[in-house]
Amino acid sequence: MKEAFPKTLLPDFQHIDPKQIKDNINDLLNKNLTMIDKLLEQNGSYFGDNLMQPLEDMSDALHKTWSPVAHLHSVKETEALRKAYNETLPLITAYHTRLSQNTRLFEAISSIAERTDFKKLLPAQQKIIENDIRDFKLAGVHLSPEKKSRMAELQQQLSKLCTKFSENLLDATHGWTLHVTDENDISGLPPQARQLAIDNAKQRKLPGYVFTLDFPSYSTAVKFLDNRELRQKLYAAYTTRASDQGPNAGKWDNTHNIEAILKTRYDTAKLIGHESFAHYSLATKMAKQPEKVLSFLNDLLQRSKPIAKKEFDEIKTYAKKRDDIDDIAAWDVAYYSEKLQHEKFDFTQEDFRPYFPINKVLNGLFTLVNRIYGIHIKEEKNISTWDPQTRFFALYDSNDELRAGFYIDLFSRQHKRDGAWMDECLTRRKLSDGSIQYPVAYLTCNFMRPVDDQPALLTHDDVITLFHEFGHCLHHMLTKVDFLSISGINGVPWDAVEFPSQFMENFCWEKEPLSLISAHYKTGESLPDALYQKMVDAKHFQTGIQMIRQLEFALFDFRLHLAFDPDQPPQTQKILDEIRKETAVLKPPAFNRFQHSFAHIFAGGYAAGYYSYKWAEVLSADAYAQFEENGIFDPLTGKSFMENILEVGGSRDPMTSFVAFKGREPSIDALLRRSGIG
Ligand code: ZN
Repeated sequence: MKEAFPKTLLPDFQHIDPKQIKDNINDLLNKNLTMIDKLLEQNGSYFGDNLMQPLEDMSDALHKTWSPVAHLHSVKETEALRKAYNETLPLITAYHTRLSQNTRLFEAISSIAERTDFKKLLPAQQKIIENDIRDFKLAGVHLSPEKKSRMAELQQQLSKLCTKFSENLLDATHGWTLHVTDENDISGLPPQARQLAIDNAKQRKLPGYVFTLDFPSYSTAVKFLDNRELRQKLYAAYTTRASDQGPNAGKWDNTHNIEAILKTRYDTAKLIGHESFAHYSLATKMAKQPEKVLSFLNDLLQRSKPIAKKEFDEIKTYAKKRDDIDDIAAWDVAYYSEKLQHEKFDFTQEDFRPYFPINKVLNGLFTLVNRIYGIHIKEEKNISTWDPQTRFFALYDSNDELRAGFYIDLFSRQHKRDGAWMDECLTRRKLSDGSIQYPVAYLTCNFMRPVDDQPALLTHDDVITLFHEFGHCLHHMLTKVDFLSISGINGVPWDAVEFPSQFMENFCWEKEPLSLISAHYKTGESLPDALYQKMVDAKHFQTGIQMIRQLEFALFDFRLHLAFDPDQPPQTQKILDEIRKETAVLKPPAFNRFQHSFAHIFAGGYAAGYYSYKWAEVLSADAYAQFEENGIFDPLTGKSFMENILEVGGSRDPMTSFVAFKGREPSIDALLRRSGIG
């Protein structure tokens, strides 16, 4: 009998009262600050037990109280919660700044590194001390009191600006819909998307069909609607969200937020003595110098641009042949790509939906990781969540020992932030009584919700997204590190974080895993060979275009943070336009304000770090090649990946971990091969 996940360790989402959040957090912060002062009054020397462990206890207590609030703010926002979040966030920011600028605390931690017996500590413990010393310096512990207070101000500003950026984006995404009543207007739309549009209209008590700017609704509409004018309307509304352009121009405009965020980051970097925020950002990453990042991205661009150009010419020729279109526009690209793919390979993403009902996909995914890592996953009912469709699972190792838990919240809905991500609810660590705190993850996606009494049906792209996020979850959940700050994804350099996630995507292209996760929701038949073959044949369809799109985002983010100069007039659009000259195969219309919804870099952790996706893909492709060589279910290869990569978290340098698994440093060849641009 397996031990059930102890419910008492989980947050009670039903009873989080927005009115109490600020006071609760405030009390906790004050308690922590008093305890830190007490710790620093100790006589004698510092070590793990009398400094590091109590510090970790405090930071865990704060995380456990704040994480459910921050999570709800992302997935089930209410006015009261937004207000409470915005009132509380400055307190937390101030607390972190105060801690990271505390000279006495810095000296106490540094004194451990100077002890003669420092090297006797576990390598993981040494790593924590080294990371802390680095981070104290990056936070300005050495600055004069005036500069320290300037730094504190900057951090407050930044956190406010980023929150505002994402609030504007959420409001703008939900602040526009397209309502049509004529059946002809929805011509071309596949059944699931049609049903969603009807459902959206019903929810609003309207006749006919409603399209929203939520990704599942928008992306299928712009890909399938035969009506070019409607596609244009949708594209214009989507790509001008939260900007000075489009149907809601100026209403939730992020223009000033973007400039202010860049300026605040620039000032932070300068205060610490770095040339730019890009330099500052690299201080904690694998790629140490900007030149390394730029040459990596430019090399990939050189290799993929000619392929992307050829792919685009094919779309143009096809649109001309099919519909006599001479002036192909940005809102036509997804539409004709889909039709072209259909003509060349005789399938669409929608053909997959009936074969990927959500429960089959999840059970198949759990069987897959059981075969690779020997772990077992079991659903737990009656766990308090924030939405009736959210589920909770417990994870056991091959000895049936409870190791972790995770929530999954898969469907798009109102008041939920767009996109897919993993976040931490609880982090693994050893508590002062010697027991282990189990890690718990939040897995969040925005798939098309189940409509019309059918189970939720996924596309192959959705399946890849789910595998990706589950890869992050495994990294978080399978860690064996006992210390909070380097356990799971903590302390892992940002440009290595996407390694375990992108690694998982590879399995979505293999026959056996696909047969585990597919069963027609009516007939039970698994993915037919013919459809599988078509998918494999089409694997490299437009990979050049996809590659340069990612490179455009990465180059824009990096060069923007590298070149930002407050003495110049705003450069953001100019830099984006310059990069697009090198990357884009089709110049986007002048009203396009993609940057105003680029939450990864303006509201998330990817600033001067979006390149991480490609950087880590080199690692993931090369690691997966090892599985291809030894057999994708080879238990020894699985064990080695689990032990050398997933279990060690941030406790050692990712290059050391990679070499331990692969036997050599990573090479770009596997990525090129995988992308069909080798
Ligand atoms: Zn990811």
